[in-house]
Amino acid sequence: MQKSMIIIGAGIAGLSAGCYGQMNGYSTRIFEMHTTPGGVCTSWKRKGYTIDGCMHWLVGSSPANSFYRIWEELGIMQKHTFIDHEEYWSIEGSNGKSLVLYADLGRLESHMKELAPEDSDFIADFTKGLRKLNGFDMPVDKAPELTNIFDKVKMLFMILPYLGLMRKWGKMTVRQFTERFKNPFMREVFLAPVGDMKDFPIFALMMPLAWLSQKTAGYPIGGSLELSKTIEKRYLDLGGKVDYKSPVVKILVEDDKAVGIKLTNGDEHRADIIISAADGHTTIFDMLEGKYVDDKIKGYYDNFSLFPPLLHVAYGVARTFTELPHSVSGFNLFLDEPINIAGKELTRLPLHVYNFDPSLAPKGKTVLKFMINTEWEYWSELYKSRERYKAEKERLAKELLNILDKRYPGLSEQVEMTDVATPMTWVHYTGNWKGSYEGWMEMSLGFGKRMDKTLPGLDSFYMIGQWVEPGGGLPPAAQSGRNVIQIMCKRDKRKFVTTTP
Ligand SMILES: Cc1cc2nc3c(=O)[nH]c(=O)nc-3n(C[C@H](O)[C@H](O)[C@H](O)COP(=O)(O)OP(=O)(O)OC[C@H]3O[C@@H](n4cnc5c(N)ncnc54)[C@H](O)[C@@H]3O)c2cc1C
Repeated sequence: MQKSMIIIGAGIAGLSAGCYGQMNGYSTRIFEMHTTPGGVCTSWKRKGYTIDGCMHWLVGSSPANSFYRIWEELGIMQKHTFIDHEEYWSIEGSNGKSLVLYADLGRLESHMKELAPEDSDFIADFTKGLRKLNGFDMPVDKAPELTNIFDKVKMLFMILPYLGLMRKWGKMTVRQFTERFKNPFMREVFLAPVGDMKDFPIFALMMPLAWLSQKTAGYPIGGSLELSKTIEKRYLDLGGKVDYKSPVVKILVEDDKAVGIKLTNGDEHRADIIISAADGHTTIFDMLEGKYVDDKIKGYYDNFSLFPPLLHVAYGVARTFTELPHSVSGFNLFLDEPINIAGKELTRLPLHVYNFDPSLAPKGKTVLKFMINTEWEYWSELYKSRERYKAEKERLAKELLNILDKRYPGLSEQVEMTDVATPMTWVHYTGNWKGSYEGWMEMSLGFGKRMDKTLPGLDSFYMIGQWVEPGGGLPPAAQSGRNVIQIMCKRDKRKFVTTTP
């Protein structure tokens, strides 16, 4: 008999689980609290402009990376056009110069050596590491929970050529990396983008450079919501069903077995299997009332570091910016005069210029967006007074525009749209704990480590998505949805199958 499955959340993980569930003969239904698919992989429209809330790159945008296969199965590769940017990031120093992290590693090496000739040996070593990393790719076909001794041995052989590389760079923090430079500018610009997160692993900066140089981390024209809608369509075409505006408040449990869900309107729905692809904290401590936790899980939520929430301040401007390069993470601007945001004096601001995607703005116009790491506690406290919250959003929009106007004279006259989204906005629309944009920081658990998809003592229940895949990201979210269906197929003694549209 066909088993039924309820999935909570139509983010990338939930949609992916839905697609693979349908491919494998399960009868699935997704309940989503919002009105659109995608969760944090989203965009929103204002006055003819589209503000992209997520997409920098999609790892696996070419067959050089194993994730390509998953995007093919989910219908992305057939539908979307990808562009590969030449620059990853441009970071300004206080001396007026900029370090440009080029995707072309030869260009990157000579640029860095030009900026810091005294560090030539270390730069050569670093770019050698990047080149080596270029060929690194992990198989994604089999769920790690299902790997056997042969798979592990195979994996070991695949990793073997990179062990030296991982030993050398794998545990190095950005702080330690910068200490290796003699050149003060290099120290400054490599520390700048990580802000307070100086213990961020340098590997997390090296991997994207390797992917970009391989041209397998492209940007899909149309941006985040269009990509999410493609997966939603794939799911619906496979016979799935999504209920929007359906927030789940409770997971129904009988004899330590998940049997259904309850919505805010009181409606109850039952199924053989319940998968939560929603926020981890809400799932464990609200929907399940904290009844299925052990010290390990409690420890994650009490002690582990989260990716910080973000403040997005976007402007739609009647200007093209064709003179600026296309960049994945944009420009890290150095400010002569600091700006106070959430009680902190900031001298750096990350600016994205969406001059590479004409679909996001009317012809001849562009979206510019600051995306600033901020503090959850500050914004949640401020939100208690809506007047002060609104006033602070307005102040920031004004002050940040002044900063832009100094760089690009006349810009403030060309602004047609302004939009400010705070961590509160993200919590309202996606439910992510403390507004964190990617869940757990990878380094909290150790590189490549995963969390369990089940909870102790609870049967017929699984968790997927960024709250069980430390480091987050679109590929792990999609993979996690695929993996959970593989696990279920194994339990139900079925062959896991995939199709492409
Ligand atoms: C600004 C930003 C930039 C990013 N850039 C990139 C990038 O360039 N590349 C990349 O790979 N990744 C990027 N990411 C990360 C990536 O988008 C996420 O890790 C991934 O989309 C998470 O997917 P998910 O399905 O696990 O979770 P979510 O997207 O959070 O999905 C959870 C879903 O559950 C729903 N939900 C929550 N509570 C309930 C409830 N009670 N009832 C019903 N539904 C509920 C939510 O509304 C949401 O739709 C970025 C993220 C952000 C925010």
